[in-house]
Amino acid sequence: MNILIVGGGLAGMSSAIALGEAGARVTLIEADSNWGALGAGLSLNGASMRALRELGVLDEVERRGFTHDVRQLFDAEGNLQFTSSSERIFGPDVPNGGAIMRPVLHDLLLERIEALGITVRKGVAASRVVDAEAGVVELANGETLQGDMVLCADGFWSPMRHQLFPDAPASQFTGQGCWRAVVDRPADIQGASTFIGEYKVGVNPVSQDQMYMFLLENKDEDEWIEESQWLERLKGLLSGFGGLMAEIRNDLGPQNQVNYRPLKVHVVPAPWHKGRFVLIGDSAHATTPHAAYGAGLAFEDALCLAGLYRANLPVSELLERFTAARYDKCKAVVEGSVAIGDIERRHGSMDEYRKAFEAVQTIVRDWN
Ligand SMILES: Cc1cc2nc3c(=O)[nH]c(=O)nc-3n(C[C@H](O)[C@H](O)[C@H](O)COP(=O)(O)OP(=O)(O)OC[C@H]3O[C@@H](n4cnc5c(N)ncnc54)[C@H](O)[C@@H]3O)c2cc1C
Repeated sequence: MNILIVGGGLAGMSSAIALGEAGARVTLIEADSNWGALGAGLSLNGASMRALRELGVLDEVERRGFTHDVRQLFDAEGNLQFTSSSERIFGPDVPNGGAIMRPVLHDLLLERIEALGITVRKGVAASRVVDAEAGVVELANGETLQGDMVLCADGFWSPMRHQLFPDAPASQFTGQGCWRAVVDRPADIQGASTFIGEYKVGVNPVSQDQMYMFLLENKDEDEWIEESQWLERLKGLLSGFGGLMAEIRNDLGPQNQVNYRPLKVHVVPAPWHKGRFVLIGDSAHATTPHAAYGAGLAFEDALCLAGLYRANLPVSELLERFTAARYDKCKAVVEGSVAIGDIERRHGSMDEYRKAFEAVQTIVRDWN
């Protein structure tokens, strides 16, 4: 089977690996000629680690990123409120969590794609669905490509989704914006640490030397913030915190790759396929970072497709089974993540927060 993948983010790259391993002839096209990834960190929960092991890259993620088994929750002054169990949930060889720089993960997935001999064309954008039943897509340069199956891994804004499902509900702003920065890791920060004050902030090591820092700002409106203001705005938001966060605030500068994104979600109603085209990753289901699972859901989509491919099913049945397998879990993760954000917005109790977090952890454990 010829499989065309539109988009080389985490969903597209992991699908190329999983389907390439399963024996499919895969072509991946990526619109960006400077194909790479934003220089931010990516937190990964235990289920994402389990999926990375299935993709055959967990050893490299552990080597080039940072993994841990324990999560800690602090108040705004840095007083410890809760430590999670260090017992491994996903098996003895799968860490409970971790993080990695996005460009580092991109590079190690690309190495795997190259080792599998998968055809990659960068700087090539899909522009129009020509014939969904035949799997034909037109590129921005006027060329057409055909796949027995076309995976639309073109991300949150997905031009393919808008053409295939023009009536799908629009993405919703969740009332929070996410600030991110990459900072030096103090030696005593060995795992994910979250601090709950006026806002939720957290750190997660991405390597021996660095950690990913985030702050979730509560906002009534989806405000546009100029990039030139990002550093000073983040420093201002951190001013209510003591301890580690105060130290980070004092050292923050242009070297820390500060970045802001409003949090928005959607789950495209089932089914996610039309003819031979199917939505995967953020094009089908975009979540907030609360469960550190957007990437993990994309990896699981890839592994699910590869499992169905191995079953040698007709394309229509394969794609029907794909949405059937993935829809409920992805929807529950998005809803559970939004629910955690709502508790943060109305300053719910630590106990309420912990229960909502644990509810999502229960959903996360099953593959589908
Ligand atoms: C602020 C924020 C923080 C987050 N933090 C985390 C986290 O800590 N942990 C986590 O697991 N998840 C996190 N997520 C979610 C995670 O980043 C996404 O779920 C994941 O990156 C989705 O991958 P994707 O491949 O579906 O989409 P993308 O990464 O957006 O990739 C889409 C790709 O398709 C390409 N493309 C687009 N249009 C076309 C076209 N027409 N033709 C060809 N190529 C095209 C794009 O150039 C891009 O490379 C976060 C999200 C946000 C917004």
